[in-house]
Amino acid sequence: DTIGENLDRTVRRFPGRDALVDLAAGRRWTYAEFAADVDALALGLMDLGIAKGDRVGIWAPNRAEWTLVQYATAKIGAILVTVNPAYRSHEVEYVLRQAGIRLLVAAERFKSSDYAGMIEEVAPRCPDLEFTVLLEGPQWSDLLERGRRGDPADLVRASAELSPDDPVNIQYTSGTTGFPKGATLSHHNILNNGFFVGELCHYTERDRVCIPVPFYHCFGMVMGNLACTSHGAAMVIPAQAFDPLATLAAVEAESCTSLYGVPTMFIAELAAPGFDAYDLSSLRTGIMAGSPCPVEVMKEVIDRMGMREVSICYGMTETSPVSTQTRADDSVERRVSTVGRVGPHLEVKVVDPQSGRTVRRGEPGELCTRGYSVMLGYWGEPERTAEAVDAARWMHTGDLAVMDEHGYLSITGRIKDMVIRGGENVYPREIEEFLHGHPDVLDVQVIGVPDTKYGEELMAWVRMREGAPPLTAAAVRAYCEGRLAHFKIPRYVHVVEEFPMTVTGKVRKVEMRETAARLLG
Ligand code: ATP
Ligand code: MG
Repeated sequence: DTIGENLDRTVRRFPGRDALVDLAAGRRWTYAEFAADVDALALGLMDLGIAKGDRVGIWAPNRAEWTLVQYATAKIGAILVTVNPAYRSHEVEYVLRQAGIRLLVAAERFKSSDYAGMIEEVAPRCPDLEFTVLLEGPQWSDLLERGRRGDPADLVRASAELSPDDPVNIQYTSGTTGFPKGATLSHHNILNNGFFVGELCHYTERDRVCIPVPFYHCFGMVMGNLACTSHGAAMVIPAQAFDPLATLAAVEAESCTSLYGVPTMFIAELAAPGFDAYDLSSLRTGIMAGSPCPVEVMKEVIDRMGMREVSICYGMTETSPVSTQTRADDSVERRVSTVGRVGPHLEVKVVDPQSGRTVRRGEPGELCTRGYSVMLGYWGEPERTAEAVDAARWMHTGDLAVMDEHGYLSITGRIKDMVIRGGENVYPREIEEFLHGHPDVLDVQVIGVPDTKYGEELMAWVRMREGAPPLTAAAVRAYCEGRLAHFKIPRYVHVVEEFPMTVTGKVRKVEMRETAARLLG
């Protein structure tokens, strides 16, 4: 199926069920209403001359219109380019030019960012950009109006020309390790991925999924939106872009059965004053993903939030995104400490990054994945595509993993983040996991810093719990001694309020290493 065909199928099965709830706007759509707006928007876009293969950008925080644009562009075969809400003018200019965006739908502003002003500033340098549609402006309602007057037969004809293998989306990676890369993904890539994520979460039309993770990223638009629409579940958008209390309030108000987040979001929700006042008893499942999921946090999500069946997913934008997922019938131990087994119809292998040979079970190596989910390529960058996807179509993830004898994978970190201290390979993940057990530690990250004697030394960045005194290097040493090998004990400790983060909620260790180098002179 194409995404449009799949949506139509769901609409026929569950026309009266909730499709979408936008708590900021105070609006909701049943599947029948949602389909009517999607089709009107699709016809409106066709009326402007937008056709198969054209790039349409969307630059807005999570809101209902974002989702309408996602499905309307898919229906007419336009390629949706999802623009990071945190971008500033030079970055948006890069994306507009690199992807050759013809029509950009944007919020007028978001937080302190004046999107409309930035677009006006860069537009003269973006030759492909013909139309800008501001969601708050008359162009948006005009587009829907035009579409409502259009002929539905035109849409049927346009949809019939599409193949599931056509590109439908350019998604930029999070930019955790450098400049973001635009992964080109097909209907087949992302629709299947969303569908299987939903299958493993056992979604039905009775599920209501709270999605505080950004739509511009595959966690929101695929694991969230496509997982819902392919199973008839409802997408629930909290009233504010990530805010722990607004998220908990959304779960309570909409009786959500599932909640998504990157680890830092769950940490913030669990630590929020007033957490206990929310009734979260409707929650059954959810997904934690995007970066290493600390065991302690997973346990609290199960015990205090009641997310008995919560999954951990592992994946990357380039693989649509999910490659492995824990399942409700895995043991609790495996569900809190591994990223699960390979997903349906996918393959994984763990290889020695130098020789490319598959390593033994239990040994660390680079994780590679293959199957329906591997991207078509990086948009306009064949050389970078060839570096990431080999001739046999294996995606080289750049992540280090260990597979146990039953096929459960653990991610030990990114190759780029591995620390080599005095010849020993140190996986920061293991030390972070251990320090999470310290009662005063709210969150912790470990990086390597240059050292003349050992090549690299370890530095722990720590966020303290409310009221706890700042942790010292001596206290960390005392806590670790006798329980961690001496070469894994951080030499430096740096207490901070926040870590440098991407909008997708990932810690930017590149930036931490730069700051650390300055701190150490
Ligand atoms: P960039 O490629 O631009 O540096 P990025 O890799 O963070 O950024 P994404 O595609 O959003 O961009 O994220 C994929 C990466 O996130 C994976 O390669 C992996 O390092 C990390 N990741 C995702 N899920 C998990 C998980 N469950 N546990 C550990 N790491 C994870
Ligand atoms: Mg990446």
